Amino acid sequence: MLADIANLSNFMARIVQKYGGTSVGSPERIEAVAERIEQWKREGNEVVVVVSAMSGETDRLLQLAGQVCDQPTERELDVLLATGEQTTIALMAMALNHRGVPAVSLTGAQAGIVTDGVHTRAKISSIDARAIEDALANGSVVIVAGFQGQTESGLITTLGRGGSDLSAIALAAGIKADLCQIYTDVSGVYTADPRVVPEARKIETIAYEEMLEMASSGSKVMQSRAVEFAKKFGVIFEVRSSFNQESGTRVVKESNDMEQVVVRGVSVEKNQAKVHLAGVDDEPGVAARLFLSIAEAGVNVDMIVQNVSSRLADEGSGVTDITFTLHQDDIHRVEPIIEKFRSDSLAEDIQITGGICKLSVVGIGMKSHSGVAAKLFTALAEAGINIQMISTSEIKIAVVIAEERMTEAMNVAHSAFELHLEEPT
Ligand code: ADP
Ligand code: ASP
Ligand code: MG
Repeated sequence: MLADIANLSNFMARIVQKYGGTSVGSPERIEAVAERIEQWKREGNEVVVVVSAMSGETDRLLQLAGQVCDQPTERELDVLLATGEQTTIALMAMALNHRGVPAVSLTGAQAGIVTDGVHTRAKISSIDARAIEDALANGSVVIVAGFQGQTESGLITTLGRGGSDLSAIALAAGIKADLCQIYTDVSGVYTADPRVVPEARKIETIAYEEMLEMASSGSKVMQSRAVEFAKKFGVIFEVRSSFNQESGTRVVKESNDMEQVVVRGVSVEKNQAKVHLAGVDDEPGVAARLFLSIAEAGVNVDMIVQNVSSRLADEGSGVTDITFTLHQDDIHRVEPIIEKFRSDSLAEDIQITGGICKLSVVGIGMKSHSGVAAKLFTALAEAGINIQMISTSEIKIAVVIAEERMTEAMNVAHSAFELHLEEPT
């Protein structure tokens, strides 16, 4: 496990730092980051740096692909997208060399990051850290391209959007770093996206489970797969800003006192759609058939709600309603599937509604405190915001609402749980 970050200030350490797109978004920003890296290096630390593509670059490359082809193969998309990070590693190494700091750049493949063959969302299967170890032993800062790896057979892969976070966490585990720092454009993980909720407050310490729930319900400050990996391998990390010297947020294993805080944060997932099937035959295998076809189309569904059957089960098969949510970009893939469901008379009516979002409140304190759902629903009701769907897990309550009410709902939920106030210590 990584050493306690708080006690590292006067200690020569092995550090993995990750700088996101905005942090390296211009030559001036690369210069500013190189200066920070130089300081860590001059203090005697071993430094491995993971960088993202310059901000906007991955989207630009995706758009370029769209201009030459409707549906590029995922293999070629990976070859294209990996160039974004490759540009940044070279520029960062040049900037450091120019300052007199020895630095070498490594692509994901050169850094020994081996993945499975699932293009555009590959999983890291192993890391052969020899090239990194050799460069560190030579006294160099090592600059690694985030978001990318290579299969056993040498194909270039990428790790899903936001995947440089995962590269950094996995490398920290792979080279047994003492410290993993995720540098971004905000000062840490906040109680809500500070761009949506101005009153949001920086969280000092958060449990993996909470960070994972927040990340997977829309708080894109960390990629959820990266948090999952960190939790699995016990990689303690901190999220902090590359634009100031403030201390950030530490993401750690859950401790008992953390349950005092009932709600740690509020997240929102935008661009969602809701699919409603009414009058669905209520018999074994119908839901399986529906969701199997959806899975085969490569679509991820999120919330699923099925009503109690409109007739008692022992009176023979009744009918029920099934509603689920998905990303609105996937509507075109799901439409033919549910249309077929209706034409096969497995559902009486179908409806797809876009323009919705999912708001979640997250906190491990929910395990031992009641009344959280009531407080959230009351606050939304008082603001006249209609709840379209509800789902809960042990540490999360999520509601689907109209996307046009998103900002208001986030602020209302944040105030209802008084998240702007300091946490009890
Ligand atoms: P990077 O390019 O450094 O990876 P990202 O854009 O992926 O940065 O993530 C940082 C952004 O995440 C912030 O600018 C902020 O708007 C957003 N964000 C969403 N939820 C949160 C939250 N709870 N705390 C902090 N930032 C958040
Ligand atoms: N450049 C990739 C993206 O924009 C990976 C990352 O920034 O983490 O998603
Ligand atoms: Mg990111």
